[in-house]
Amino acid sequence: MHEPGLGEDVSDVRNVIIIGSGPAGYTAALYAARASLKPLVFEGSVTSGGALMNTTEVENFPGFPDGIQGPELMDKLRSQAEKFGAELIPDDVTELHATGDIKEVKLHDGTTYRARAVILATGSAYRELGLPKEKVLSGHGVSWCATCDGFFFREQDIAVVGGGDSALEEATFLTRFARSVTVIHRRDSLRASKIMQERATSNPKIRWAWNSEVVDIHGDAKVSGVRLRDTVTGEERDLEITGLFVAIGHDPRTDLIKGQLELDDAGYVKTEGRSSRTSVAGVFAAGDVVDHEYQQAITAAASGTTAAIDAERFLAAVE
Ligand code: FAD
Repeated sequence: MHEPGLGEDVSDVRNVIIIGSGPAGYTAALYAARASLKPLVFEGSVTSGGALMNTTEVENFPGFPDGIQGPELMDKLRSQAEKFGAELIPDDVTELHATGDIKEVKLHDGTTYRARAVILATGSAYRELGLPKEKVLSGHGVSWCATCDGFFFREQDIAVVGGGDSALEEATFLTRFARSVTVIHRRDSLRASKIMQERATSNPKIRWAWNSEVVDIHGDAKVSGVRLRDTVTGEERDLEITGLFVAIGHDPRTDLIKGQLELDDAGYVKTEGRSSRTSVAGVFAAGDVVDHEYQQAITAAASGTTAAIDAERFLAAVE
C-alpha cells in the first residue's frame, strides 16, 4: 500500500498534468493555463528546459530575427507559461499509471499526483558518441541537427558520424552549405536505403571515412578536428574539420508509458491522425516523443498547442 508522501493530497484530482519541459511541454502548459485548466508541469530534475538547453544560438525559432540563445528561449517559454498560472515542479516523474479514468503520477519519494488528463512531452534523447569533449563543444562545432545548425558551416570542412538513412540525409543536406562533408562510418558498407546511398555517393562534396570511429574531438573553444581510429587495423589519424554532426540515432523517452500506450514501429508514441490523442483516453502526447520526422523546436511547440487543445476538449466532454 502506498503511503502518502510530502505534498500529497490524494483528494485533489487535477485537470491536467504535463510531463516534460521542452518547447512541447511549456507550450502545452501555456495553452492549458490560458484555458484556466491550472496545469501542473513536471519539468525534470536535471534537464529542465529540454534539448535546447544544450545549444547556443537558435536562429530558426520565429519571432527572433537576430537569433536567441537556446537557454534564453526556454526561459522565456517557461516564464510565459508560469505567468498565466502553470504550476511548475522541477522534478522527475518516476511512474505513470495512465490507463484508468484518473491518471496517477508518482515521484521518487512516493509523492502521488492525480489528474483526469496527462500530456506526455518527454522528448527524445539524441544518441551520443560518449566522448569527454562532446558535451563541452555542443553548440561550438558539435551538433545533432543539420537543419538547425547547417547554416553556421558555410564553406567549411565538416563531418557526419553514422551510416544510416538519417546520417546520409544530414550529410546530403549539409553539402548545401559546407565545402566538404566527410561521412565517418564504423564499417565498410552502409545501413542506409539504396536511394539515400546513391544520392550521397554521387554527391561530389561528400567524402568517406570507412571503417573509422571518432576517438577524440580536438579544439578548446571550438571544434578544430577529430582523431579517427581504423576499426580494422587500429591505426589512428587526424581529420581537420570545424563541425561534427552526430547522426547515430535518437531514443524517444517512453519508459514511463511502456506497456500502457501503443508505440509505432520506431518506438515513438502513436497518435491518432493529426491529433495528439494516444491509444489511451485522456493521455495526449506532443513533441519529439511522437515525432521522428521533423524534430524542431517550433514543431514541438506546435504539437504542444495541439495537445493542450485536445486535452481541454476531452475534459469538457467528460465533465
Ligand atoms: P525536449 O526539448 O527534449 O524536452 C523534453 C523534456 O522532458 C526535458 O526537459 C526532460 O527533462 C523532460 N522529461 C523527460 N522525462 C521526464 C520525466 N520522467 N519527468 C519529468 N520530465 C521529464 N531545434 C530547432 O528548432 N532549432 C535549433 O536550433 C535546434 N538546435 C538544437 C540543438 C541541439 C544540441 C539539440 C539536441 C536539439 C536542437 N533542436 C533544435 C531540436 C529541438 O531542441 C527539439 O526538437 C525540441 O527541443 C523538442 O522539444 P520537446 O519538448 O519535444 O522535447
